[in-house]
Amino acid sequence: MPNYGVPPLALARGEGCRVWDEDGREYLDLIAGIAVSSLGHAHPALVEAVTAQVATLAHTSNLFVHEPEVRLAERLRGLLGGDGRVFLTNSGTEANECALKLAIKYGKANGRSYFVATENGFHGRSMGALSLTGKASIREPFGPYALDVRFVPYGDADALKAAVDGDCAAVILEPTQGEAGVVPPPDGYFAAARAACDATGALFIADEIQSAIGRTGAWFAFQHENARPDVLTLAKGLGGGLPIGACVAFGEHGVIFAKGDHGSTFGGNPVSAAAALAVIDTIDADGLLGHATEVGEILAAGIAAVDHPLLAGVRGRGLWRAAVLTGPHAPAVEAAARAAGFLVNAVQPDALRIAPPLILSAAGARAFTTALPAILDAATPQES
Ligand SMILES: *Cc1c(COP(=O)(O)O)cnc(C)c1O
Repeated sequence: MPNYGVPPLALARGEGCRVWDEDGREYLDLIAGIAVSSLGHAHPALVEAVTAQVATLAHTSNLFVHEPEVRLAERLRGLLGGDGRVFLTNSGTEANECALKLAIKYGKANGRSYFVATENGFHGRSMGALSLTGKASIREPFGPYALDVRFVPYGDADALKAAVDGDCAAVILEPTQGEAGVVPPPDGYFAAARAACDATGALFIADEIQSAIGRTGAWFAFQHENARPDVLTLAKGLGGGLPIGACVAFGEHGVIFAKGDHGSTFGGNPVSAAAALAVIDTIDADGLLGHATEVGEILAAGIAAVDHPLLAGVRGRGLWRAAVLTGPHAPAVEAAARAAGFLVNAVQPDALRIAPPLILSAAGARAFTTALPAILDAATPQES
């Protein structure tokens, strides 16, 4: 179907932070399949875990339980402080569908009917998650939606507070808006959202589908803030390239669903769960949270040091950054970077997303920032 347009490259294989296209050209992968390939490509721990699991038991359905999904749920619960309950999915949007169904059930039980989400926020492409997505160009063609969703400007704590009252079922927020261009909110925004939900009894849902599992230098981005959500969704980096997502609900919210309320045939399948355990174990054993913080600083400082008319600055945290451009140059810069051997993503017309594997070396980050001035030169529109 034509929904993706024509891709610029056909990739054939990868190793570490490098990938090769079908013509044998090598690239440094600074986008990691949209913040997914957290251990890079063909990481031995991932290969071993997936290979062993597929050779042992590849699928059970939810009619039966298996060890990898139980271990993964317990591992996530451990990383999150102990009172979480986990539902495993195959993707990000499904993790949000689970959160949404929890919130709808919670709202019905408490006479709460509407949702608050943010302008330019992104929560997925399935109909429930899409109804929460605040980007008109992807949301509106498929409306109207069954849910009453009120959108507030992202980062404005007063607007958020004013939008949440005792009829609000849930507030959903990204800790930093990913698809909007790696846009962090002002300090204290997340805590203000937590406070608005505490004051009114609305559920606070954090969409950490892009930010979780080390991307910002913490296991979860909310851990940088002084506020824990009631419900948390994650996906992208969790499986290191295998499809898996999770919805975690804390305390009493973990038992909102009763038997029969939700399900998934493939969700939490043994191979993806084994992959996720390998990702978490490797991040832990190799100190990749600290590494992502360190290399992220090197990357950001290197971008900030470039003085070029096309470049306005850099934002983000850890290995989740955007080079902000002075105009709608991102598609040209993305193409020039590719020609120079670097894969990055024109996430917005004026923002270039950089979300490499968490194993990116300092030398890899410097290779990109050293090449950046020439890339920007190559992307500069020619006067005619
Ligand atoms: C990618 C993303 C989603 C959707 O995940 P899919 O796996 O593509 O369905 C939802 N929310 C956020 C914040 C995302 O970055």
